[in-house]
Amino acid sequence: MLTDLERLIRLQQLDDFAEQARRTITEHPVRVQALDDRLTAAREHVAAARQHATDSQAARRALEKELATVQGRLSKFKDQLMEVKTNREYQAMQKEIEVAQQEVRGIEDRILERMVEADELAAGIRQTEAAQAAAQKDVDRERRAMEDDVARLQSELARTTPQRQVILTEISAVALSIYQTVAPQRKGQAVAEAREGLCTACHVRLRPKVFNDILRNDAIIQCDSCQRILYSAAATSTTPNASPSA
Ligand SMILES: [Zn+2]
Repeated sequence: MLTDLERLIRLQQLDDFAEQARRTITEHPVRVQALDDRLTAAREHVAAARQHATDSQAARRALEKELATVQGRLSKFKDQLMEVKTNREYQAMQKEIEVAQQEVRGIEDRILERMVEADELAAGIRQTEAAQAAAQKDVDRERRAMEDDVARLQSELARTTPQRQVILTEISAVALSIYQTVAPQRKGQAVAEAREGLCTACHVRLRPKVFNDILRNDAIIQCDSCQRILYSAAATSTTPNASPSA
């Protein structure tokens, strides 16, 4: 293979890696923030569930207070019932007692509902606490993996950046100039593989003569359509006239 072509392929690999690595490193704080947001949400769910239970308990205590008041009134009526003189007074007192008893039953029902609700809310709290613990575990694991990833990319970048500098000095001025012209116009990709008669970057079909020349990998040949420098990865094992592989 033409040495310049080999260097261009390597340069493209290094640039692709550096681009991807820098993007991952740049996005790291955003991804950490997303993990923190997940933990915050899980904590808020626990707090909301606990608050719900606290509110329900307070409502139940208020009902119990109300019940005591009505029961007090009821026993006062019962005492008074012993002291009434007339039948009319007796009936009126009976009516008051009936109303109070109904009220007691109503309040007792509502207290019972709150007791059932308390069980459900306690189960809900346990559920949110379990979810929070699971989220914490996930986040810890993901954060460690991300930090390992960033550290690995940084050391890899430290290793490959000087390699790239060396290639830049070795590559011919003409070849480098093509690379540096095309790369910014093609989202950083100046070199592409040609395969089965196509440019794999822009998918345009190459003229047979051009494709055959590319298969030899002995010249800098650009795609007519996207201008990328083309090479063949299959060139060493395939001759131009070989039948297409299945
Ligand atoms: Zn192309």
